[in-house]
Amino acid sequence: MKKVAVIGAGPTGRAAARTLVENGATVTVFEKEAEGGGLMRYGFPDFRMPASVPKRDTEALQKLGVVFKFGVSLGKDISLADLERDYDAVLLSTGAPVPRQLNIPGERLQGVHQALDYLRASKTNQPMDSGQTVIVIGGGDTAVDVAVSAVKSGATDVTIAFREQEPIALPHEIERAKKSKVRFRGDLQPVRIDAGKPGLAISFQDDSSMEGDSVIIAIGQEKDSAFITKLGLTVNPDGSTNHPNVFVAGGTLYGSDRLAKAIQDGRRVAERILQI
Ligand SMILES: Cc1cc2nc3c(=O)[nH]c(=O)nc-3n(C[C@H](O)[C@H](O)[C@H](O)COP(=O)(O)OP(=O)(O)OC[C@H]3O[C@@H](n4cnc5c(N)ncnc54)[C@H](O)[C@@H]3O)c2cc1C
Repeated sequence: MKKVAVIGAGPTGRAAARTLVENGATVTVFEKEAEGGGLMRYGFPDFRMPASVPKRDTEALQKLGVVFKFGVSLGKDISLADLERDYDAVLLSTGAPVPRQLNIPGERLQGVHQALDYLRASKTNQPMDSGQTVIVIGGGDTAVDVAVSAVKSGATDVTIAFREQEPIALPHEIERAKKSKVRFRGDLQPVRIDAGKPGLAISFQDDSSMEGDSVIIAIGQEKDSAFITKLGLTVNPDGSTNHPNVFVAGGTLYGSDRLAKAIQDGRRVAERILQI
């Protein structure tokens, strides 16, 4: 029976684990967090995805025979060499966790937060105080999730500023934000953030500016190439690597994208592993 280690219990890793176990493999999933689900557990706000949903998914996989080891981080608690020694194949599905930067002055000022830190704090019952007036930078799903979360946490004046002409988030999520009185302002590219009196002032390319208690940057995430390099891996476009039985899939392979793509990719690479 093939023994497979899956690293990361997000949508990619779970889809892979399911395909593998349903086809007779023995699967152990190593996850650094205390619960499974990846961004569905630690990113999506509760009003869209209560923690009970990924928890049920984990339980369903456990019933199929998948073993989860939570609180175990590859590179810290276990090494790739250990896994290669103990398993027939290793799948890295660790997501795309590196926040994109604006690369403008003031990005590190107090009161400037990264979207995933902000969302994670509220999903772990330690919500950040972002004040009454919140400016969210970015026009995608994450920006909308942050803005609506800020309103639900008591902010009274929330604006999403984005560089496109129209926000790129899902239409029904934009509707939800508008119903929550979130303002959308397009065609805006931030050029600097300054400490105001009090709060922050953010300036844009068209010489306009906004003032707020906090600025939350939600312009997407990228894959962690440094992590992969540190493991000594070079990755091929199909998810195979320079280590014969080590594969990568989902966000780890192509960066941040849609849920359906992560699930599809997890299944695809699992099929590949079943053939080795
Ligand atoms: C706020 C937000 C809202 C979104 N909304 C939507 C939406 O509405 N629709 C949609 O289609 N997509 C949405 N997405 C995108 C979707 O969440 C991703 O496509 C999907 O989660 C990617 O799955 P993944 O398994 O590749 O990565 P992740 O979900 O990031 O899972 C990776 C897992 O690996 C674990 N891990 C990382 N490093 C290690 C390590 N060293 N050792 C052990 N474990 C590790 C992490 O803790 C995590 O559990 C959204 C994303 C965000 C951030």
